Amino acid sequence: MPRFRSLPLLLVCLLLVGLSGFSAYRIGQRLGIADLRATGLHRLDLYAASLEREIGKYAFLPGTLNLEPAVLDLLAGQGGDAAGGRVNAYLEKLNERAGTLSIYVLDASGKVAAASNWRRPDSFVGEDLSFRPYFREAIETGTGRFFGIGTTRGEPGYYLASALTGESGTLGVAVIKVSLEQLEKSWSTVEAPVLVADENGVVILSAVAGWKFTTLRPLDEATRAAFDHTQQYNRRALQPLGVRPLGDIDYGVRLVHIAASGPETISVYPVTGRFLEQSRTLPGTPWTLTVLSHLEQVDNLAQSRAALAAIAAACLCLLGIILNERRRHLRDRLAAREALQQAHDDLERKVEERTADLSAANRQLQDEIGERIRAERTLRAAQDELVQAGKLAVIGQLSTGIAHELNQPLAALRTLSANAERFLERGDVDTTRTNLGRIADLVDRMGRITGQLRNFARKSSGQSAPVALCHAVDNALDLLDARLRRASAEVARSCPVDEPVALCDANRLEQVLVNLIGNALDAMAGQPRPRIDLAWECADGRVRLHVRDHGPGLSAEAQAHLFEPFFTTKPAGDGLGLGLTISAGIVRDFGGSLHGANHPDGGAVFTLELPLAPTP
Ligand code: ADP
Repeated sequence: MPRFRSLPLLLVCLLLVGLSGFSAYRIGQRLGIADLRATGLHRLDLYAASLEREIGKYAFLPGTLNLEPAVLDLLAGQGGDAAGGRVNAYLEKLNERAGTLSIYVLDASGKVAAASNWRRPDSFVGEDLSFRPYFREAIETGTGRFFGIGTTRGEPGYYLASALTGESGTLGVAVIKVSLEQLEKSWSTVEAPVLVADENGVVILSAVAGWKFTTLRPLDEATRAAFDHTQQYNRRALQPLGVRPLGDIDYGVRLVHIAASGPETISVYPVTGRFLEQSRTLPGTPWTLTVLSHLEQVDNLAQSRAALAAIAAACLCLLGIILNERRRHLRDRLAAREALQQAHDDLERKVEERTADLSAANRQLQDEIGERIRAERTLRAAQDELVQAGKLAVIGQLSTGIAHELNQPLAALRTLSANAERFLERGDVDTTRTNLGRIADLVDRMGRITGQLRNFARKSSGQSAPVALCHAVDNALDLLDARLRRASAEVARSCPVDEPVALCDANRLEQVLVNLIGNALDAMAGQPRPRIDLAWECADGRVRLHVRDHGPGLSAEAQAHLFEPFFTTKPAGDGLGLGLTISAGIVRDFGGSLHGANHPDGGAVFTLELPLAPTP
């Protein structure tokens, strides 16, 4: 079900449906009325013809009495006493043959001279009917027509009168009264109510029994007085039928409404409601024949057509709405696709912009990295300078130490050499040899001091190369082989399956190892079975070598000043306190570190950590 997006569209649809229904109703009604009109006209002609035929049958009859000599004699007063009886019998027979209600003859004064019903106690004979309009009309014009209700028996009928003339002029009037009941009865079976109203608008014939002797229009007082005089309707009530005009359509054709408030009627067709009224005057009479066609069927048909038209319009609207919704849906989809395309284009543009930005940032980064590298180089150079400067500062410190360290042996040398000279002069060769031996020891010691100073002063080549660490350890142990043997030391070592390789200077690394192992041997001096454990550990791209001895371990003071230059606990001449300082500097040059600590199970552990060389 399409969703209504706009109220105006819904309102337009509703208006369209309403208009379609209304127009179809009006058109249907108009067509239906046109149909009814054609049928009504046909009926009107038919009923008029049948009425004319019915009346025409008897039109000539009153005139024929002018041919009857007995009648004329009676009116002329020439037939004697028996004349009345003969005419009565004649009229009785004629009435019987003609099938009329009654036939009677009035003399010139309007008195009934003879009548067909002369035998009956309520016979007209002798009655004065000069007040009846048909009498006066016949006297004046030769013929008279009149519809009325009989004054004696109250029987409605149509009176046809004809003046009877003799040689002396008008002798009287012959009257026949015919019943139109038969005609009325035949009308009661027709499909639409039909009625005949006289010149006063009083219904004198009707297919609907209850409508008879009702009035189509209001009667004024003068007319009612005239009715009393002529006794035309024998003082009947003459109630209004309750016809209310709804609108004229054409001459003699209009829409009317007959109210249910009229006289109660029993009929085969509806007798109240809206009707199409078609009237025409009947030639030769002042009467009006009216056919009333009920509009119920027309209304029903028009309503059906209206409903159909409204449904069709609703279907069309629905179709229109569906098509519109579909069109809108397609438009939305198109818009969404365009928006998507737009978003895509935007995204692509942004990606391009970002890529350009990134490229620029990348270039900038590269520039910055270049800058950093240059800065680092500059820094390194500066650092190198600083290191050198630091070393110079240390040399300054050293000078004092050296002065102190060398002055003592130099003074001793001076004394010993002077003594040696004196002992030589005296010929004391043994003492001189002893002195010279001590001099040689002092020179050795001084040589060691200067040798270590040379090491300290030597600048790193800065050229690193992959060094197999186990191999470097082997070399260091080879260098210390004599000392190890002397001390009967045991070195526990193993090498990992993948021999660790670090980027460094092999000679200087061996120098560090010699220093660490040498310190370990020093710490265990005097022990019967000194033992050194060398253990490897590789993790996170770094390799660690733990050099553990089983000596006394590091004192608190030693831990605090371990890597400070000239810190030593060894007796003067054995240690300069430069070994660990130099070693730590070398290891730092390799990008590594050196730590000293006490092992939980005793002894000191020095850990040398170096970055592993990247595997090719
Ligand atoms: P030196 O060996 O000339 O004294 P070092 O810098 O090599 O200079 O050592 C400084 C001091 O650190 C040593 O004098 C010693 O007190 C202490 N030390 C170094 N190694 C050990 C060790 N393995 N066990 C105990 N003490 C040590």
